[in-house]
Amino acid sequence: DEQTEDGSQTKKLLTEEGHSVKVASHYNTLQECGLDERSRSRIVHMRNFNNWLKSVLIGEVLDQVHQRQREVCVLDLGCGKGGDLLKWRKGRISQLVCADIAGVSVEQCQSRYDDMRKRSHSERIFSAEFITADCTRELLSEKLSDPEMRFDVCSCQFVYHYSFETQQQADTMLRNACERLRPGGFFIGTTPDAYELVKRLEASDSNSFGNEVYRVTFQKKDEYPLFGCQYDFNLEGVVNVPEFLVYFPLFVEMAKKYNMRLVYKKTFHEFFKDKIQNDQNRVLMQRMQALEQYPADGRSRLASDRPEEYEHAQRHSEEGGARMPLGTLSKSEWEATSIYLVFVFEKMS
Ligand code: SAM
Repeated sequence: DEQTEDGSQTKKLLTEEGHSVKVASHYNTLQECGLDERSRSRIVHMRNFNNWLKSVLIGEVLDQVHQRQREVCVLDLGCGKGGDLLKWRKGRISQLVCADIAGVSVEQCQSRYDDMRKRSHSERIFSAEFITADCTRELLSEKLSDPEMRFDVCSCQFVYHYSFETQQQADTMLRNACERLRPGGFFIGTTPDAYELVKRLEASDSNSFGNEVYRVTFQKKDEYPLFGCQYDFNLEGVVNVPEFLVYFPLFVEMAKKYNMRLVYKKTFHEFFKDKIQNDQNRVLMQRMQALEQYPADGRSRLASDRPEEYEHAQRHSEEGGARMPLGTLSKSEWEATSIYLVFVFEKMS
């Protein structure tokens, strides 16, 4: 389906490399052009919500690891541009390995890290290593500076679904995530919930569903192979590369090969309801909301500027049903983000 000047070669590449080439070039070209202002503001709350969720997840897991040891080593699998670097710093880790298929993202991640280090003054900051690799086809152990390196946590945020193109790719990604984990180490992540995707697809009268913020388009309806069940997830033009359904029970089975036990799986909604009860997490959410209202560019993002969204959020919190952070996520953003789930696996002996 790639019509370029050299159509045949592109086709050959895609056959050999599946969608990896597309994924890498998509994320590479996304870098500097970014989103226009309108798009940026439309999903700003959703991005913040996702960040809050990752912060809470990462914070909790690191706390557990810190209870038994001082030095913590982390693998950020599919690190992107380094959106979680500050979380690793806050979590007082000692060592980080960042890996991603998109070379430009890895470079940006590295320069963000270098800047962070420069600005840290006397604070001791974790050491880091950066690897460009297709983690569904290459073994990270062959690219690590120290092949004997062991991790306490592997974090795979919004990435694992790219690997479910074939069983072998899903297995290689899992191997990269888990084989170097120490016993008692954690494999954590976020990925779309296949059950939620299929439920919404079945409720739609076409092979697509969504709203003004996101759109998911399946290639086929009523046929859901365990691997290679492809769909397009378009989020305000941010992510528009093929993804694959991750049938969770299969994921759990496959993880057993690497001695991994599922600690929990929660939808974003369940995770939110659960974790927002905690005072510290609520304060973090409030702080992030405050930053939203007074962003660096000085434009006000007060809830009163967005009456319909504010009203919607309030209604939901009154209903106590799909309870959301008051005055933040729009209904459309919530519909988009509630597709995802959180998982935590633990490495047995
Ligand atoms: N984890 C980051 C975060 O939470 O901000 C980035 C998430 S972004 C939605 C997905 C990332 O997965 C992209 O950076 C992409 O390049 C990476 N990715 C996709 N397929 C990959 C593969 N086969 N190997 C390594 N990284 C991959």
